[in-house]
Amino acid sequence: MPTPMTPEAIRRAPKVLLHDHLDGGLRPQTVIELADTIGYPDLPTTDPAALGTWFRDAADSGSLVRYLETFAHTCGVMQSEQALVRVAAEAAEDLAADGVVYAEVRYAPELFEPSGLSLEQVVEAVQEGFRLGERNTGNKIRIGTLLCAMRQNEGWLRIAELAVRYRDAGVIGFDIAGPEAGFPPTRGLDAFEYLRQQNAHFTIHAGEAFGLPSIWEAIQHCGTDRLGHGVRIVDDITRDADGSVHIGRLAGFVRDKRIPLEMCPSSNVQTGAAKSIAEHPIGLLTDLRFRVTVNTDNRLMSGCTMSSEFAALHEAFGYGWADMQWFTVNAMKSAFIGSDERLALINEVIKPGYAELMA
Ligand SMILES: [Zn+2]
Repeated sequence: MPTPMTPEAIRRAPKVLLHDHLDGGLRPQTVIELADTIGYPDLPTTDPAALGTWFRDAADSGSLVRYLETFAHTCGVMQSEQALVRVAAEAAEDLAADGVVYAEVRYAPELFEPSGLSLEQVVEAVQEGFRLGERNTGNKIRIGTLLCAMRQNEGWLRIAELAVRYRDAGVIGFDIAGPEAGFPPTRGLDAFEYLRQQNAHFTIHAGEAFGLPSIWEAIQHCGTDRLGHGVRIVDDITRDADGSVHIGRLAGFVRDKRIPLEMCPSSNVQTGAAKSIAEHPIGLLTDLRFRVTVNTDNRLMSGCTMSSEFAALHEAFGYGWADMQWFTVNAMKSAFIGSDERLALINEVIKPGYAELMA
């Protein structure tokens, strides 16, 4: 008899996370304690439960100003080496407690320059935190780091070079984050060209707040390995009245090349990229066998975990253990670590974990 898909069983199942923001995943209690330590005066409340709710409501409000305010607070309290170490360690611990066995966590080092730290000091503090967090969980989880450049700022190449400089210290890739509309990925072609020349990996937030042109540029001009969100690829797919599906050339390219989609259902509903979980394009894209992965994006702002995302998908689409294993193997295949390490996790951790649940 397969194990029933209860929240606790979903939590125990091995999961792989590719799209999670460090500054979007703090514990409310930690935000409050760090604010107190550094004398940060702007938090809306110092009650942990109320603060957690405030973050979710602000992200839900449909107001970009309030949404950005949430990150002003989290980044505001992370402006020291000690804070970065602590937040990174706790992220590893929280993800491991949620049954995540491998995660790629991203952040933009330039957001912590106001602290007076150099970019190198920022990266080293976060790496120290991840290693500490991994050890604290008995190495139940492995964390890889992605460095983001902020799309609205100049100097993407500077961050790409930083990522390559720390590639042997656990930084395994690069991304651009921030406002998608108005800041196309082709603004920083030199960064992507540099990364390709260095045989480095990168993903690009595309097809969340902006549509097909953003996805097309990310793939065909920049050469991205994966798409952050990529939800709007459905704009290139039409369905006739008789139910037959037509896949356009770009969507066909994405599917045929197995370009991974880092889908973040709850976050997409909050930002309006999808109306509800049940209406999220993940259903269609999964039916059509795109390389779909499931992710959290910002655990604090969305009040979500990997387990709660899978529970929501189970409820909305009836996905069972076999589907959850498929999403998890998709994610592991799409990770930026070496193929030998990916295969080892698939064969030694993921498949045995699901075999037990399905037996
Ligand atoms: Zn994101």
